[in-house]
Amino acid sequence: MAAASTTATPLELRPLGNTGLKLSCVGFGASPLGNVFKVISESDAIATVRRAFTLGINFFDTSPYYGGTLSEKVLGKALKALEVPRTEYIVSTKCGRYKEGFDFSAERVTRSIDESLERLQLDYVDILHCHDIEFGSLDQIVNETIPALIKLKKAGKTRFIGITGLPLGIFSYVLDRVPPGTVDVILSYCHYSINDTTLEDILPYLKTKGVGIISASPLAMGLLTESGPPEWHPAPSELKVACKAAAAYCKDKGKSLPKLAMQYSLSNKSISTVLVGMNSVDQVDENVEAATELATSGMDEKTVAEIQGILEPVKNVSWASGVQQS
Ligand code: NAD
Repeated sequence: MAAASTTATPLELRPLGNTGLKLSCVGFGASPLGNVFKVISESDAIATVRRAFTLGINFFDTSPYYGGTLSEKVLGKALKALEVPRTEYIVSTKCGRYKEGFDFSAERVTRSIDESLERLQLDYVDILHCHDIEFGSLDQIVNETIPALIKLKKAGKTRFIGITGLPLGIFSYVLDRVPPGTVDVILSYCHYSINDTTLEDILPYLKTKGVGIISASPLAMGLLTESGPPEWHPAPSELKVACKAAAAYCKDKGKSLPKLAMQYSLSNKSISTVLVGMNSVDQVDENVEAATELATSGMDEKTVAEIQGILEPVKNVSWASGVQQS
């Protein structure tokens, strides 16, 4: 168990593009609260969120898709249980992706936010993302979904608008077709961690667009952990095998691969927050400690270089996601 304490170095806050929001550099990914990785009891989920907030995490991300709405419900309960003013935490949820499938129509996303707010027990969210847009028509996202979200922003249901997905090309496709300042935030996942740094290539472009950058899945959705990825993980087997070897190498050396992976992702300050999924107080402690240790004594560069060596043959290997755009 990592020994994080509430009196340790405060967690760094970083600005999110032009939003004026300042996000803790470690963000709380709430997909595990929807039992996406393993089953977690409601009381453990609430304790995990409380621990995160106590240690300085102020950003919580969920979606109606995670656990078929379970994540939103549990996160809502856990945030309410904090009994702190609403302005002390930042919440993002998503629209367009559901257990039943994808629907980015204006009608569905407009209904979606009301459903999410009810489950979250909130009056507004800070960010509403279009979830995994590569599975829809990107032209529909530009011409129908985002205009609907602008109306929701005007109605005060969300403060900011975001887009998420895996292939990096989706971001420029949309950002080049909407007026500047329309999309406030992008959320990329599995593209800025020890094994895959391709997000780096588009950081200068994203900066010119003034969007806030959230990088999710620093542990490559479980690949960079000792217990390994869940059954549904879409990575090709050569990537799974190499990450397993890296985890075994770290175990032998008495090093924590998740901690080093967190520190690696946190080192790039163009990224506003590193969104990591957590389902226990211990994971919160270890991930926050990774950030505070990085700030005070830096990263174990030697071991990171050794891990990079093991992962070199699969560097930037990813997987297909989404539908062919016409
Ligand atoms: P991740 O890389 O953060 O890995 C999460 C897994 O690692 C979970 O099994 C978690 O329990 C485990 N873990 C966390 N800290 C650990 C530690 N210190 N030691 C050992 N294991 C640890 O992947 P993720 O959860 O998929 O991504 C983070 C969050 O980002 C999600 O919860 C979600 O909020 C968001 N996200 C969004 C999208 C999208 O919008 N398309 C995609 C992926 C992730």
